[in-house]
Amino acid sequence: MNYIKHLSPNTTTQAEPLFSSTPQVENNSGGFVWEVDHWTRLERFLILGCEGGSYYTGEREMTRANASIVEQCTTLDPNRTAEIIACISEDGRAPKNDAAIFALALVASSKNWEASRAALCRLDRVCRIPTHLFQFLSICKELRGWGRGFRNAVAAWYKYRNPEKLAYQVTKYRNRHGFTHRDVLRLCHVKTGDGTLNSLFKYITQGTLPCEEKLKLVVGFDLIQKLDKRAEDTAAMLIKEHGLTLEHVPNTLLGSSKVWGALLPNLPMTALIRNLGKMTAIGMLKPLSSGVDKVCETLTNKKRLHKSRIHPLSILLARTVYEKGSGVRGSLQWQASRQVVDALEEAFYASFKNVEPTGKRHLLALDVSGSMSWNYCDNGLLSCAQGAACMAMATARTEPKTHIVGFSDIIKPLAIGKHTDMRTALQRISSCTFGSTDCAQPMMYAMANELEVDVFVVYTDNETWAGHIHPSVALKQYRRKMGIDAKLIVVGMQANPFTIADPNDTGMLDMCGFDASAPQVIKSFVG
Ligand code: CA
Repeated sequence: MNYIKHLSPNTTTQAEPLFSSTPQVENNSGGFVWEVDHWTRLERFLILGCEGGSYYTGEREMTRANASIVEQCTTLDPNRTAEIIACISEDGRAPKNDAAIFALALVASSKNWEASRAALCRLDRVCRIPTHLFQFLSICKELRGWGRGFRNAVAAWYKYRNPEKLAYQVTKYRNRHGFTHRDVLRLCHVKTGDGTLNSLFKYITQGTLPCEEKLKLVVGFDLIQKLDKRAEDTAAMLIKEHGLTLEHVPNTLLGSSKVWGALLPNLPMTALIRNLGKMTAIGMLKPLSSGVDKVCETLTNKKRLHKSRIHPLSILLARTVYEKGSGVRGSLQWQASRQVVDALEEAFYASFKNVEPTGKRHLLALDVSGSMSWNYCDNGLLSCAQGAACMAMATARTEPKTHIVGFSDIIKPLAIGKHTDMRTALQRISSCTFGSTDCAQPMMYAMANELEVDVFVVYTDNETWAGHIHPSVALKQYRRKMGIDAKLIVVGMQANPFTIADPNDTGMLDMCGFDASAPQVIKSFVG
C-alpha cells in the first residue's frame, strides 16, 4: 500500500486541504486556502473596508468579523494595533477613513486602560478634520461614556492646534453625525491660556465675532453667509481677502463662475475632483476656455497630487462619474470635457508614489471569475475586477516588462496593456467577468507556454476552488520546470481572511488591494 500518494501536493485538488505544516481553511466557495494572520486582516479591513459586503458575505457579517479582528489585535498588542490604525490612516493608504475611525473607536472603548490610552493619544492622527472627530464621537457614544481621559483627549484635539488652522477647520466643517463644535466644546470643558484660541472658542460657543487679525477668516465667513446670490463680485472679493474655501460659501452663490474662479487657486485637490461636474455644468470648463486649462494643469500637477495625498481610487471614481455626465445623487448633468477626462486619467497614474522600475518580468494576472464582478467600492461604480485592471495598468506603466492576462478556470485574453485607455479597459473587463475560479491558472499558463516570469502578481478575492492543483504547488512546479526562482504576490481585493500564498514560502507575499504605495511594496519584495 502506497500511503504517501494520498498526501502528495501534486495530486491534491483545491477542494482538499494541502498537507502542510500550516493548516489550510475552507474559503467561502469550498476551496482550501490559508488564512492570513491577524495583522494582515487588520490591514485589509483598514484599507479595503467592508461596505456593501462581498460576493459571498453580507456587510453586517463582514463588519462583525472585522470588528472582532480589531479586538483580537488589541488583546495581542494594543499599542501596535493603535499604531497600525494611525499609520494607515495618516499615510492615506485607504480611499476612505471610515474603517480607521471605526477601529480607533473600538480600541478607545476597550475595557483595557492601556488600549484605550493608546487609541486616544492617536486621536488627532486618525481624526484630522472635524468630520472625522464627529464620526469618532458618534461611534464612541454607542460604546462608552465621557470619562476624564476621554474628555481630556477631545479637549486636546482642539487646544493643541494652530488657531488659524483650527478656525479654518471649524468654519469649513461645522456639523456632522449629530454633533456640532459647540456641543463638543461643552462636553469636554476645554480650557486654554491662548488668547486667540479663547476668542475662537467664544465664537463657537457664544457666536461672538473675534477681532484678532489671525481670525479674519471667521469674519469673512460670517459676512459671506449674509450675501444675496447676485452679490458674486463681493463674494469673490471676500474669498480672496479672507482665504475662504468651498465649504464656507453658501450654496446659492455656487452657480457663479466668478465665485468658482476665486476659489480655484486654493481649492484642495479632493474638492476640485468632486466638483468638476458642477464646474462644467455652470459653463466654467467649456472647450478651449482658460478654465479648462487651469483645471487640467492642476489635476496633472504631480507635486500638488502628492501633497494632497489623494488616493488613486478616488481619482478613478471621479473619472468614472465625470465621464458619465451626471452626478451620483441629484439631477445635475453636464457635457463631459474630453480634456478633463484625459487629465483625470493622467492624474490617476501620477497619484501612485514614484518608484524606480525593477526591470523584472511581471505576469499580471487578473481574476475575472464571477465573484470578481462584485462591487469594489460604493455606488457600484467599479467592480473588483475593474479595480484590479486599473492597478495592473498602473504597474505596467512603471515596469518595462509586463504581460497582463485574465483568468477564471481558464486563461482569458484581455487585450489590455499600459497604453489602453481606461474606458476601453473597464469595458473589456466587465464583459468577461464570469466562470469558476482557479488561481493556479497563471502559473500553469506560464508553464505550458514556457514564459519566463520573475514575478506573478495575482489580483483575486482568494475564493479559488476549481483547480486540480493548489496555486502554491503550481508555483513550485513552475520554479522547478523553468529554473526561475519566481515570486508570487497575491493582491487581496476583499477584506476576507483568505490567501492562496503559502505562509511557509518566503517567495510569496500578501498585499492589500488598492493603495498608492502598491508599486513600492512590490519593488521592495522583488527588487
Ligand atoms: Ca471567483
